[in-house]
Amino acid sequence: MDINNNSKDTFNNINNNVLIALIDKLEENNTLSKDEWICLLINRNKEIMDYLFKKAVSVRKKHYGNDIYIRGLLEFTNICKNNCLYCGIRRDNSNAERYRLSKDDILSCCEEGYEMGFRTFVLQGGEDPYFNDDKIMEIISAIKNRFPDTALTLSIGEKSYESYKAYYDAGADRYLLRHETADTEHYNKLHPSSMSLDNRIKCLYNLKEIGYQVGAGFMVGSPYQTVETLYKDMKFLSELKPEMIGIGPFITHKDTPFKDEKSGTLEETLYLLGLIRLILPKVLLPATTALGTISDKGRELGILAGANVVMPNLSPKNVRNKYLLYNNKISTNEEAIEGLNNLKIRVNSIGYNIVTDRGDHKDFIS
Ligand code: SAM
Repeated sequence: MDINNNSKDTFNNINNNVLIALIDKLEENNTLSKDEWICLLINRNKEIMDYLFKKAVSVRKKHYGNDIYIRGLLEFTNICKNNCLYCGIRRDNSNAERYRLSKDDILSCCEEGYEMGFRTFVLQGGEDPYFNDDKIMEIISAIKNRFPDTALTLSIGEKSYESYKAYYDAGADRYLLRHETADTEHYNKLHPSSMSLDNRIKCLYNLKEIGYQVGAGFMVGSPYQTVETLYKDMKFLSELKPEMIGIGPFITHKDTPFKDEKSGTLEETLYLLGLIRLILPKVLLPATTALGTISDKGRELGILAGANVVMPNLSPKNVRNKYLLYNNKISTNEEAIEGLNNLKIRVNSIGYNIVTDRGDHKDFIS
């Protein structure tokens, strides 16, 4: 994260007692003033991180005990009409080997996942025009008819209100659409001019209005991110109150305009996970694949910082290494479905349990 020079001068070297008081205040009120946020965001250190993680874990335990929810992730197409500057499956990356899964492929992955205990499936993909509303609704209905006790999450980008409503009526329960950054200038540096923050935010509010459990989020350490843009992210999340928040480190991809940028760090991602848990105590917060990619123990550390969701990959083996949003994306045993037992052991070893449950947000009455 770049720190804006003015902020750095004003808020640097704050005593840990002040920071501890701010964390206590955040826990109590779930919000802070702009200056307080900037102060906390700038002055990260080991002692403060440990203090924050203890708070975040106890808040999470109050609502979710030691339960960790699993979501079966199906990356069903890597074809995308968008050209986001950070993303390895962006339209202009001619080195990406493109694929689409058929409805039958998707259903057989769900079948396998269901047998292993998955009760949430996440359909994620590029914005692929081939999957028009009819095709998406057909897939949703097929999954929900075959596995009525599961929740279905979509993560297929920006659509009209009518399309979102049609997917919801067909049976989709949740929708993940990271806002990416709540600062317009920053948004415009990460995306082509055909995309806008206003539309992204409008989509998120539309999804809420329709009745979805909604997920927002952003990449930690994305190019041009500053403490000011992060403050706006925190504020935006407090206002939107999403049921899910996906944050993970930005990781460079060799075939994107950001190939020479620095990736985000484990430390900063963990810190933000802890802070987000205090803003929204009941939020469903994944320890993401990107976090597992930058560190072998990223998933466990994410849980110990306040996360309570992991999303193993259910996609067929032959496409898993083609959904490459960033370099060196993990597709290890623990990441993939075959490694669910290993994942359970890892999660147990830090005192948590993977549960077979839809894992809805605690306040959510569907
Ligand atoms: N097309 C859908 C959308 O726009 O929401 C879903 C797919 S998109 C690839 C899923 C998420 O991947 C994005 O929201 C973005 O935050 C993340 N992502 C893309 N490129 C990344 C990178 N280089 N490092 C880390 N995360 C990345």
